[in-house]
Amino acid sequence: MKAVALRGAFDSMVIDMPAAPLPRGSYGTFGYSEEEIEREAIRLQVAIKQPMRWSIEICRSLAPITMEINRLKEEKGVFLIAHSYQTPDITYGVADSVADSYALSKEARDAPEQTILFSSVRFMAETAKIVSPHKTVLHPSPDAGCSLSDGISAQDIRDLKMRNPGVPVVCYINTSAAVKAECDVCVTSSNYLRICERLPGDRLIFVPDRFMGSHLQEHLRGKKEVLVYDGECEVHAEFTGKKIRRWKSSMREHGIDLMVLSHPECGADVLEESDIVGSSEVLKDEAIRLASEGKKDIMLITECGTADRVLAETEEQLNLIGACVMCRHMKTTGLEDILQALRDPTPEQVIDLDPVIIERASRSLDEMFRLAE
Ligand code: SF4
Repeated sequence: MKAVALRGAFDSMVIDMPAAPLPRGSYGTFGYSEEEIEREAIRLQVAIKQPMRWSIEICRSLAPITMEINRLKEEKGVFLIAHSYQTPDITYGVADSVADSYALSKEARDAPEQTILFSSVRFMAETAKIVSPHKTVLHPSPDAGCSLSDGISAQDIRDLKMRNPGVPVVCYINTSAAVKAECDVCVTSSNYLRICERLPGDRLIFVPDRFMGSHLQEHLRGKKEVLVYDGECEVHAEFTGKKIRRWKSSMREHGIDLMVLSHPECGADVLEESDIVGSSEVLKDEAIRLASEGKKDIMLITECGTADRVLAETEEQLNLIGACVMCRHMKTTGLEDILQALRDPTPEQVIDLDPVIIERASRSLDEMFRLAE
């Protein structure tokens, strides 16, 4: 995991984003002609909209594999979805849809295709399988985990329930299917405050994110007692209020009033410094909206993929200033993994969940729909 600064208004603030990924092996041209490769390279560069980082040479080297993936998708009837934190060659080169995990799971469920390939981390592919139990869900990188979902087990929830009988357990969507199956209701970063407020009773247990849990404690102060598990997202835990205050004050010295947009997986001191708090989709949309209103100096306090999406999805010239942090789990997946999973998936690349777990986990998701209305 590495903190990197984005394009800044001042050279002193600019540290290059990591280099664009090149194919890991030599796959040749897959039989595509030079004209086809050139056309695809231009399509990739135009879609990604970061010509310095994603040069035409890099796009040319990626073009044969993106074309081959897109051909195989069509031939095999596969709907390919990618989380916002995947690299732009995936999100803008081969994905049929890009969003946050929950929106994508719903798209996977509603898509006519019977095979879904979810380019993301493991718990997200499991969520897609829970909502689409009769579809085949492929996950190209079986080892791609998450510090939040890997930090808590189904046994941990059973132990919590034993120690706190009758207290409802609320799990953030960044949990495994086995954990969701033990919980009463699942929540997302967009609805956790509203749903927890609506739960009956004056106590609840929130797992696994201690930062979201502490925002919840603050939100429900005087109304409900919130017991919080001690997990964290290793990416959003990197940010501190002190760092953000320093960046803001350094920009102010240059006459720049930064708009700070943060993800709720960050700590309370970060959120206190923020103008907008929301999920990765909300942050992307708000950054684009602010830029269109002339507020172009923006700091995105989240994973680097959100910045890649903002840059690709607006025509506005905006200054993304400050830092983003890369998630090593999210960046595990490359185009080669996707190609391999499409061609001949290994058993580990096919999400296979116990039907009892699916049934119980889908109850906690259904409860979320009911309470979110
Ligand atoms: S960014 Fe954080 S929550 Fe998301 S997959 Fe990475 S470690 Fe997990």
